[in-house]
Formats: sequence, structure tokens, C-alpha cells
Amino acid sequence: MDFSLSPDTPAIAAFRKEVQEWLQENMRGAEHLRWSGIWSTRENEEEYRFRRELARKLGEKGWLFPMFPVQYGGGGLTVDHQLVLETEIGRHGLNLNSVFYTLARLVAPAILKWGSEEQKREFLPPMLRGEVSVWQVLTEPQGGSDVATCRTKALRDGDHYVVNGQKIMVGYHHPPDFLWALVCTDPSGPRHENLSWLYIPGNSAGITIQPMHLMMGIKNSVFFDNVRVPAFNLVGGENNGWKVANTYLELEHGGGGNVTEDPLVVRLVRYCQRTQGDGKTLMEDQSIRDIIADTLIELDVVRLFALRNFWCRYVREPHPYGGVQYIYHQRVVRLRNAERLQRILGYDALVTDLSVHEQADFEYAVRSGPGWLHGGGTLDTDRLIFARRLGLGRPTGEAAPTTV
Ligand SMILES: Cc1cc2nc3c(=O)[nH]c(=O)nc-3n(C[C@H](O)[C@H](O)[C@H](O)COP(=O)(O)OP(=O)(O)OC[C@H]3O[C@@H](n4cnc5c(N)ncnc54)[C@H](O)[C@@H]3O)c2cc1C
Repeated sequence: MDFSLSPDTPAIAAFRKEVQEWLQENMRGAEHLRWSGIWSTRENEEEYRFRRELARKLGEKGWLFPMFPVQYGGGGLTVDHQLVLETEIGRHGLNLNSVFYTLARLVAPAILKWGSEEQKREFLPPMLRGEVSVWQVLTEPQGGSDVATCRTKALRDGDHYVVNGQKIMVGYHHPPDFLWALVCTDPSGPRHENLSWLYIPGNSAGITIQPMHLMMGIKNSVFFDNVRVPAFNLVGGENNGWKVANTYLELEHGGGGNVTEDPLVVRLVRYCQRTQGDGKTLMEDQSIRDIIADTLIELDVVRLFALRNFWCRYVREPHPYGGVQYIYHQRVVRLRNAERLQRILGYDALVTDLSVHEQADFEYAVRSGPGWLHGGGTLDTDRLIFARRLGLGRPTGEAAPTTV
């Protein structure tokens, strides 16, 4: 498989120039922002506002979701345009995936694949134009990894569903415009045949959001108390939610890939070149150079997995186990890098002092290493999916779901 990037054609080169100029203009005023890795704290409000505004401006041009159909607010562009946008915004330290704090990146493809024409016309444009923030709400107190045990009930009452239950570990520090929620629509039905997805307006009566201050930032519990949701907002068919979940979770588990690079190594090298210890720079220490080399090699492997998956998604050839292979490896490497940073920085790795962390959120990278082992599943669920896709212990392997 050849997924190497070919040189720009004249048309793509012209597009790249347009994007570069546009970004130069629209990134003005962000020079002092560090693009914190901490995705959800109340301390980086200025950064949050900048990102949201940038997402709106990208969305207006169809550049936030470049390959989505124009009629739903996308750019109607090709994979080459998408690559240009991703790599050029990457040069500014951001990526299209996380321009602003929303999970629309995962929700929009699920709605595009499973929604009715009316639902696509109603729900997608505000999402694709970067106007709304969407939380994904799957995890419940009784069973995080085991998503299918969902107990949040949504029972039909005329033209509405009435939702009752609780989700945990969801969202960010700003309230959501919408909740993309996995619900149980048939409490006595068989496992995997009793679930559905609701796209719930965040300001619906009966929703209470309670922040959880976790090691990695802010997450929330969401309580649903007789929340009435229009039946129109059920996406993918009643009790068909497990199939929708397969599309959705494949993307969450890395099936969509990525083309941006983790800036950790560049920042670490810069830090070690400037910082002195015992009269020499850290970079002059052979043992530190060895640690940096290990970091570089492993991040490069993660990058190649991500690039391969990006490619497979856009040529519509889902890799059987590529998504989960990438996310598993990424989790393990994040943990190892957390340990490596501690070895290089010593106690400085544990403080948030800006004189140490001027270059990057090293402290956050250390703190979040273990946390990322749990997020959109765990190492164990990754291993389970990996085994099923390979067909280990079963007569045939499970196919990877197609995503859009
Ligand atoms: C940073 C972060 C962001 C998150 N964001 C969201 C979000 O936006 N929306 C959302 O809905 N959720 C979110 N979550 C929740 C996340 O999806 C869950 O934490 C995850 O699915 C694991 O569930 P749990 O924490 O309840 O662990 P548990 O399911 O209780 O698992 C505990 C341990 O037991 C292991 N285990 C469980 N079952 C098995 C089994 N059958 N076989 C072997 N081992 C097993 C697990 O691997 C784990 O090590 C987030 C979590 C984190 C950390």
C-alpha cells in the first residue's frame, strides 16, 4: 500500500498558498497563546474563545469539514485539499480535529451515515460551520468499558422520547449546545438490540450538569430527569443504536486517522538545548539524547499508524484492525513519554511553573499519560477489539465498519 504524499499539483499548490495566507491573517493575535494540551480547564478561557472563533471562520469557508458535502455545510473538497488544510493548520500548532472543544468531528460522520435526509439538513450545517459544541455522552456509572450495558432510558411518549438516567466523565468546561447520547429504548430487549442515539439540545428542561474535577481536567456528570426530546432527534432508527455505535466508535478508536504531528519532540529538543544543568545544556548529556531518540522513534511510529488510517478512511478501504492498533499504541507511548519527561525534567516535570513550561505543557503531558489509558475505552477494550478483528478465538474476524 502506498500512502506516501505526492507533490502538489499546480491547483493544489495554489490552494495551499490561499490557505497559508488565510491562516496568517486569521491567526494574528494568537502569537502569545500556547495551545495548551489541557483540553478542559477554566484557566485557558482566552484560548478557548480564540479557537471557537477560528472554528467559525474555518466553518464559514467549508474548511472545518473540507470533504463533507456542500449542501450540509462542508467544503465539498478532495482529500488533497483536506491534507493541505490539516498540514497548514498543523504548522500553527493546532489541528482540524481539535480546533475547538467539540466532538462534532466524530458525531458528524455518524449522522451523515445514519441520519435521514431531513436530519442531515437540520443537524449538520451548524456543526460543520463550527457554530455548536457537541458532547458525546456514553459512559455510565455502572459500566464504562461495557458501553452496551447502557441504562439511561428513553421511552416513547407521542412525538417525544422521555429520557431518565445518568452519564459520567463527559464533556468539557463549557456547557454543550447538544448532547450525542446513547440511550436504552427497550429496557427489556436483548443486549445490542435495545439501544438508540438521541441528539439532545443541551438546554432541554430536566438536564443537570455537575462538573467533575479530574486529574486531566474537567469532565462532568449529566443527569436526565424526564427530559423530553423530539422523536425527530433519534438518529439511525429505534433499537438500531449498536450499529450506529460501531461507526461512531470506530472513529473514536482511531479509525479516522490523523495527519498532524505531535509537537512534543520539537518542544523537548528546544527545551533541552536551552536549559542548563551543571554548566552544560541538557542536550549535551548523552543519556538525555538517548531518551529523546526513543521518544522520537515511538512518536514517529504513532504518526505512521495515524497516517495509514487517514489514508484508508479516505480511499474507503477500512483497515481491519488499524484503528485500534493505532489508539492502543498511542496510549502506551503517551504513558512511556510521561515517564521519559520525568526522567529528563526531574521535579520540574511536576510543577506548572511557566518558567519551566514556557515551551509546552510538559507537566500536563506527565499528568495525562496514565489518564489517557482510559478515554474512549481502555487498553483492555483495545485488545479485545484487536483480537475480534483478527478473528482470534472465533471462526472469522469481525469486519471494520465503514465510516465517512
Ligand atoms: C480523558 C477522558 C475523557 C473521556 N471522555 C469521555 C466522553 O467524552 N464521553 C464519554 O461518554 N466518556 C468519556 N470518558 C469515559 C471513558 O470512555 C471510560 O473511562 C472508559 O470507557 C472506561 O470506563 P471506566 O472508566 O468506567 O472503567 P471500567 O469499565 O470500570 O474499567 C476498569 C478497568 O477494568 C478493565 N476491564 C473492564 N472490563 C473488562 C473486561 N471485560 N475484560 C478485561 N478488563 C476489563 C478496564 O480495561 C479497566 O482497566 C472519558 C474518560 C477519560 C479518562
